Amino acid sequence: MKKAALISVGNELINGSCYDSNAEWLKSKLIDLSFELSLSIKLPDEQQCVAKALKYASEFSDVCIITGGLGPTKDDITREALSLFAGEPLVYRDDLYARIAEYFQKRGRTMSRVNSVQAYIPEGSEPLLNNQGTAPGIKITSDSFVLYSLPGVPSEMKAMFEEHIAPEISGKAFAFRKTLKVFGLGESSAAELLGDMMNRGSNPEINCTVKEYVITLSFLARAGREDPEKLLHLSVDKAKSLLGECVYADEDISLPEAVARKLLDSRKIVTTAESCTGGLIAKLLTDISGSSAYFQNGWITYSNEAKSRQLGVLSETLKQYGAVSEQTVSEMAENALKISEADFSISVSGIAGPSGGSEQKPVGTVYICVASKEKSVVRRLFYPGGRKACRLRTALTALDVLRR
Ligand code: ATP
Ligand code: MG
Repeated sequence: MKKAALISVGNELINGSCYDSNAEWLKSKLIDLSFELSLSIKLPDEQQCVAKALKYASEFSDVCIITGGLGPTKDDITREALSLFAGEPLVYRDDLYARIAEYFQKRGRTMSRVNSVQAYIPEGSEPLLNNQGTAPGIKITSDSFVLYSLPGVPSEMKAMFEEHIAPEISGKAFAFRKTLKVFGLGESSAAELLGDMMNRGSNPEINCTVKEYVITLSFLARAGREDPEKLLHLSVDKAKSLLGECVYADEDISLPEAVARKLLDSRKIVTTAESCTGGLIAKLLTDISGSSAYFQNGWITYSNEAKSRQLGVLSETLKQYGAVSEQTVSEMAENALKISEADFSISVSGIAGPSGGSEQKPVGTVYICVASKEKSVVRRLFYPGGRKACRLRTALTALDVLRR
């Protein structure tokens, strides 16, 4: 497998004032083209440092893409670093100067004198034309290594990668990707269920990341002896059967989006009756454009009095079982369903903390109910990880129960 190195140049990347989105974007493009990453680094605007990194990259890679530092100002040092690396002087090119001058002329702007430095490239290198900006890219080829230098501005970089680099470096090799989204399992449980499938070096390779209780499994099948598309298909199917209903989507969408799609497909409407989540479930449902097709109204009944007055929860229920109880959430959901005439209702009542709670119902105890005309499903949850985490996890769990 061919190896590629990525170098992003700029003090702003090192000091954290600019996120290195170029590397992220290029990384996924290169993986799709079946490259293995040998190196991905951010470097300051320092000639010697960049030249040394290029030398290092050339020893361990077939291809290197370096972005940034091709502008006309003093902090743009990539041209000089390329010259140092190649051991060739920078030479002036009339044709490049003419293109830069034309760029300004077409826009009715005066060309600054500093821009003329962009007409210099290392002797023996090849310019890569830039249709969106003034800085040409630069290609340096040696026996077993090709170096591409692109401007740092993401839109220019992307256009030039697609135009000049992708067609050159893509061979017949292909990689296929698929994403599975999982909720309701911890990372280690998911890994345990997947077993050997998670082994490094497997084809497809499976990467697992977790964010806000949602697991993203990224499958990457590379070309090899077997058809990568078929390998991917088999592996995704196997993972789906191992993880069962916890897989909520086979594309990169959020859990609320998956719920929204299901409601839209079945033309059903959902309503919410929330206590400790304070409207978060309604928010997640209505964050999605087009949500009026499946959501009309909801309640935030925070106090006991509001639960009784607005949702008709019996005061005896509240007195006997408390607001955080199976009985209360059932009444909340069932009454909300009747009043709203929705097809489904979700209710929540719990102790998000940090204060409150008791021995029987410690902080983090939450009851949820998902009701339809046919049945009510009540779950007692225990999410003690802090107020914010408890509320989000509860809201997502309630949506997940509705989805299933
Ligand atoms: P310019 O002519 O704009 O100076 P350049 O090739 O010298 O072009 P840089 O000066 O390195 O590019 O970067 C220009 C701008 O592009 C930066 O200010 C930053 O906003 C953005 N940029 C540069 N590198 C990256 C990167 N790796 N990821 C995301 N954005 C970047
Ligand atoms: Mg610059």
